[in-house]
Amino acid sequence: MKALILKDKMQFVYGDVPKPVPAKNEVLIRIKAVSVCGSDIAGSDGSTGRRRPPIVMGHEASGIIEETGSKATRFAKGDRVTFDSTIYCGTCRFCRSGRVNLCDNRRVLGVSCQEYRQHGAFCQYIALPEHIVYKLPDNVTISITCGRGAAKALDAAGAQSTFCQAVQCLQKGGIFVTLANLENAFPSIFPKW
Ligand SMILES: [Zn+2]
Ligand SMILES: [Zn+2]
Repeated sequence: MKALILKDKMQFVYGDVPKPVPAKNEVLIRIKAVSVCGSDIAGSDGSTGRRRPPIVMGHEASGIIEETGSKATRFAKGDRVTFDSTIYCGTCRFCRSGRVNLCDNRRVLGVSCQEYRQHGAFCQYIALPEHIVYKLPDNVTISITCGRGAAKALDAAGAQSTFCQAVQCLQKGGIFVTLANLENAFPSIFPKW
Protein backbone atom coordinates (compact mmCIF):
# COMPACT_ATOMS: atom_id res chain seq x y z
CA MET A 1 0.00 0.00 0.00
CA LYS A 2 1.03 3.62 -0.35
CA ALA A 3 2.21 5.64 2.65
CA LEU A 4 3.82 8.97 3.39
CA ILE A 5 6.99 7.99 5.23
CA LEU A 6 9.15 10.34 7.27
CA LYS A 7 12.55 8.98 6.16
CA ASP A 8 14.77 11.54 7.83
CA LYS A 9 14.34 14.90 9.50
CA MET A 10 11.98 16.92 7.28
CA GLN A 11 12.38 14.33 4.49
CA PHE A 12 9.16 12.67 3.29
CA VAL A 13 8.87 9.85 0.78
CA TYR A 14 5.58 8.78 -0.79
CA GLY A 15 6.34 5.06 -1.08
CA ASP A 16 5.20 1.50 -0.58
CA VAL A 17 4.90 -0.34 2.74
CA PRO A 18 3.28 -3.72 3.54
CA LYS A 19 -0.51 -3.63 3.88
CA PRO A 20 -1.35 -4.54 7.51
CA VAL A 21 -3.18 -7.77 8.31
CA PRO A 22 -5.68 -7.42 11.19
CA ALA A 23 -5.08 -9.62 14.23
CA LYS A 24 -8.01 -11.48 15.83
CA ASN A 25 -9.15 -8.51 17.91
CA GLU A 26 -8.43 -5.90 15.21
CA VAL A 27 -10.23 -4.27 12.32
CA LEU A 28 -8.63 -3.12 9.08
CA ILE A 29 -9.65 0.45 8.22
CA ARG A 30 -9.35 2.02 4.78
CA ILE A 31 -8.25 5.58 5.58
CA LYS A 32 -10.44 8.23 3.95
CA ALA A 33 -9.42 11.35 5.88
CA VAL A 34 -6.42 12.29 7.98
CA SER A 35 -5.33 15.60 9.41
CA VAL A 36 -1.90 17.10 9.97
CA CYS A 37 -1.49 17.72 13.69
CA GLY A 38 0.76 20.39 15.16
CA SER A 39 2.67 17.58 16.85
CA ASP A 40 3.37 16.03 13.42
CA ILE A 41 4.81 19.33 12.23
CA ALA A 42 6.87 19.87 15.36
CA GLY A 43 7.92 16.22 15.41
CA SER A 44 9.11 15.90 11.84
CA ASP A 45 12.19 18.07 12.37
CA GLY A 46 13.34 15.79 15.18
CA SER A 47 12.99 18.40 17.89
CA THR A 48 10.47 16.49 20.00
CA GLY A 49 12.15 13.09 19.78
CA ARG A 50 8.73 11.50 19.18
CA ARG A 51 8.93 11.07 15.40
CA ARG A 52 12.14 9.09 14.99
CA PRO A 53 12.50 8.09 11.32
CA PRO A 54 11.38 6.02 9.65
CA ILE A 55 7.78 6.57 10.72
CA VAL A 56 4.38 6.91 9.09
CA MET A 57 2.81 9.76 11.07
CA GLY A 58 -0.88 10.67 11.36
CA HIS A 59 -3.07 10.04 14.38
CA GLU A 60 -6.29 11.96 13.66
CA ALA A 61 -8.20 10.16 10.96
CA SER A 62 -11.35 8.44 9.83
CA GLY A 63 -12.19 5.75 7.33
CA ILE A 64 -14.22 2.71 6.40
CA ILE A 65 -14.03 -0.82 7.79
CA GLU A 66 -12.48 -3.06 5.17
CA GLU A 67 -12.01 -6.28 7.11
CA THR A 68 -12.55 -7.63 10.62
CA GLY A 69 -10.40 -10.03 12.65
CA SER A 70 -11.92 -13.38 13.66
CA LYS A 71 -12.64 -12.18 17.24
CA ALA A 72 -13.65 -8.60 16.32
CA THR A 73 -17.43 -8.39 16.53
CA ARG A 74 -18.40 -4.72 16.92
CA PHE A 75 -18.05 -3.63 13.29
CA ALA A 76 -18.96 -4.78 9.80
CA LYS A 77 -17.38 -4.11 6.45
CA GLY A 78 -18.46 -0.70 5.20
CA ASP A 79 -18.97 0.94 8.61
CA ARG A 80 -17.75 4.56 8.77
CA VAL A 81 -15.43 4.97 11.74
CA THR A 82 -12.90 7.08 13.56
CA PHE A 83 -10.52 6.01 16.32
CA ASP A 84 -8.64 7.00 19.43
CA SER A 85 -5.08 8.13 18.76
CA THR A 86 -3.83 6.01 21.65
CA ILE A 87 -3.81 2.23 21.73
CA TYR A 88 -4.42 1.36 25.38
CA CYS A 89 -4.46 -2.08 26.98
CA GLY A 90 -7.71 -1.88 28.95
CA THR A 91 -6.36 -3.96 31.82
CA CYS A 92 -3.68 -1.93 33.66
CA ARG A 93 -4.44 0.11 36.81
CA PHE A 94 -4.90 3.32 34.82
CA CYS A 95 -7.17 1.74 32.22
CA ARG A 96 -9.27 0.13 34.94
CA SER A 97 -9.82 3.56 36.52
CA GLY A 98 -10.82 5.12 33.19
CA ARG A 99 -7.58 7.06 32.69
CA VAL A 100 -6.64 5.29 29.47
CA ASN A 101 -4.42 8.17 28.33
CA LEU A 102 -2.03 7.17 31.14
CA CYS A 103 -2.07 3.45 30.25
CA ASP A 104 1.15 1.70 31.28
CA ASN A 105 1.27 0.01 27.88
CA ARG A 106 0.09 2.87 25.66
CA ARG A 107 1.27 3.37 22.10
CA VAL A 108 0.32 6.54 20.26
CA LEU A 109 -0.37 6.23 16.54
CA GLY A 110 2.22 7.82 14.29
CA VAL A 111 4.74 8.11 17.10
CA SER A 112 8.21 6.59 17.33
CA CYS A 113 10.05 7.33 20.55
CA GLN A 114 12.60 5.48 22.63
CA GLU A 115 10.08 2.90 23.81
CA TYR A 116 8.20 2.00 20.62
CA ARG A 117 7.44 2.68 16.96
CA GLN A 118 3.72 2.73 16.06
CA HIS A 119 2.97 3.65 12.46
CA GLY A 120 0.01 5.95 11.91
CA ALA A 121 -2.58 6.91 9.32
CA PHE A 122 -0.74 8.79 6.53
CA CYS A 123 -1.35 5.69 4.44
CA GLN A 124 -4.10 3.65 2.80
CA TYR A 125 -4.90 1.11 5.54
CA ILE A 126 -4.43 0.77 9.28
CA ALA A 127 -5.15 -2.21 11.54
CA LEU A 128 -6.32 -1.32 15.05
CA PRO A 129 -7.81 -3.12 18.06
CA GLU A 130 -11.56 -2.66 17.82
CA HIS A 131 -11.88 -1.29 21.37
CA ILE A 132 -10.32 2.05 20.26
CA VAL A 133 -12.57 2.36 17.18
CA TYR A 134 -15.85 4.33 17.11
CA LYS A 135 -18.67 4.36 14.60
CA LEU A 136 -19.35 7.78 13.03
CA PRO A 137 -22.92 9.11 13.36
CA ASP A 138 -24.72 9.27 10.01
CA ASN A 139 -24.85 13.07 10.11
CA VAL A 140 -21.07 13.51 10.47
CA THR A 141 -19.21 13.75 7.16
CA ILE A 142 -16.03 11.80 6.63
CA SER A 143 -14.59 14.29 4.14
CA ILE A 144 -13.23 16.83 6.61
CA THR A 145 -9.47 17.08 7.09
CA CYS A 146 -8.69 14.64 4.27
CA GLY A 147 -5.33 14.70 2.56
CA ARG A 148 -6.78 14.95 -0.92
CA GLY A 149 -9.09 17.72 0.14
CA ALA A 150 -6.25 19.48 1.89
CA ALA A 151 -4.09 19.27 -1.19
CA LYS A 152 -6.90 20.64 -3.33
CA ALA A 153 -7.56 23.43 -0.88
CA LEU A 154 -3.88 24.28 -0.90
CA ASP A 155 -3.94 24.18 -4.69
CA ALA A 156 -6.66 26.77 -4.58
CA ALA A 157 -4.38 28.85 -2.40
CA GLY A 158 -1.62 28.56 -5.01
CA ALA A 159 0.27 25.81 -3.25
CA GLN A 160 1.55 22.48 -4.51
CA SER A 161 -0.56 19.60 -5.68
CA THR A 162 0.42 16.44 -3.86
CA PHE A 163 -0.22 15.58 -0.27
CA CYS A 164 3.50 15.19 0.39
CA GLN A 165 4.10 18.67 -0.95
CA ALA A 166 1.09 19.93 0.97
CA VAL A 167 2.66 18.70 4.20
CA GLN A 168 5.91 20.41 3.31
CA CYS A 169 3.99 23.56 2.47
CA LEU A 170 2.34 23.43 5.88
CA GLN A 171 5.74 23.03 7.52
CA LYS A 172 7.56 25.70 5.57
CA GLY A 173 4.80 28.22 5.78
CA GLY A 174 4.11 27.46 9.39
CA ILE A 175 0.47 27.63 8.40
CA PHE A 176 -1.58 26.36 11.26
CA VAL A 177 -5.10 25.74 10.15
CA THR A 178 -7.87 23.43 11.06
CA LEU A 179 -8.35 21.84 7.68
CA ALA A 180 -11.96 21.19 8.51
CA ASN A 181 -12.49 24.93 8.22
CA LEU A 182 -11.25 24.84 4.65
CA GLU A 183 -14.22 22.75 3.65
CA ASN A 184 -16.44 25.70 4.43
CA ALA A 185 -14.09 28.10 2.70
CA PHE A 186 -13.76 26.01 -0.47
CA PRO A 187 -16.94 23.87 -0.61
CA SER A 188 -16.76 23.25 -4.34
CA ILE A 189 -13.33 21.63 -4.38
CA PHE A 190 -13.75 19.10 -1.59
CA PRO A 191 -14.56 15.60 -2.80
CA LYS A 192 -17.88 14.03 -1.81
CA TRP A 193 -17.28 10.57 -0.40
ZN1 LIG B 1 -2.75 15.47 17.37
ZN1 LIG C 1 -3.68 0.12 30.16
